[in-house]
Amino acid sequence: MIRDNVQKILSELPLGVELVAVIKGRSLEDILTAVEAGVKILGVNYIKDVRNLFPLINRKVSWHYIGIAKVEKHDLLRRKYLEAFDMIETIDSIELAEELDKKCANIGKTMPILIEVNIAKEPQKSGVVPDKLEDMIREVSSLKYVKIMGLMTMGPLVDDSEKLRPYFREMKRLFDYVGSLGLPNVEMKYLSMGMSDSYKVAIEEGANIVRIGTKLFEG
Ligand SMILES: *Cc1c(COP(=O)(O)O)cnc(C)c1O
Repeated sequence: MIRDNVQKILSELPLGVELVAVIKGRSLEDILTAVEAGVKILGVNYIKDVRNLFPLINRKVSWHYIGIAKVEKHDLLRRKYLEAFDMIETIDSIELAEELDKKCANIGKTMPILIEVNIAKEPQKSGVVPDKLEDMIREVSSLKYVKIMGLMTMGPLVDDSEKLRPYFREMKRLFDYVGSLGLPNVEMKYLSMGMSDSYKVAIEEGANIVRIGTKLFEG
């Protein structure tokens, strides 16, 4: 089941689009099955998952943090987790980027990050609003131990993925715009958007990372 789901989705993804398997709430056995079937990147919402799984799976996969990132969430900023993660996809404030920069300086690691955008400007939602994105990126680009590699969004909750298309399109426009600024230390390489119900639309609109949980583990 999981094996088939993974292989089917991997075979359908266009060249250059990467699959992040979102592991929240999944059993170790299911996650290992997905990895055996070809998953190369795990998406982690909860630090306890990397704590439990990293010793078992280690560098067989890459590790992306996709959970809520807050300065007060000290766990993410602890040395062993910073050493484990290959990318943090959910940076949405200068304060957090600065804190991350300090912690990464201590361990001599430059952390690839994506900036999370609250594309529909929903109140209470994580992510920087589009109007503030450029200023934030200019500030964060001056930090030495974090490297901006692209943008990420969750998008609003809708009943039909077509309703997400305009938001995904706007994300791609922002992605291209930031890329066109040619800022030092900013490489607009990854656009992470689309989940189980929306990844096809997201890819049509330019996503090159899709984050899928349900459809891999339950589909
Ligand atoms: C849960 C989650 C996903 C995947 O959602 P599914 O609908 O299960 O595919 C993607 N991104 C983030 C940030 C998530 O928390």
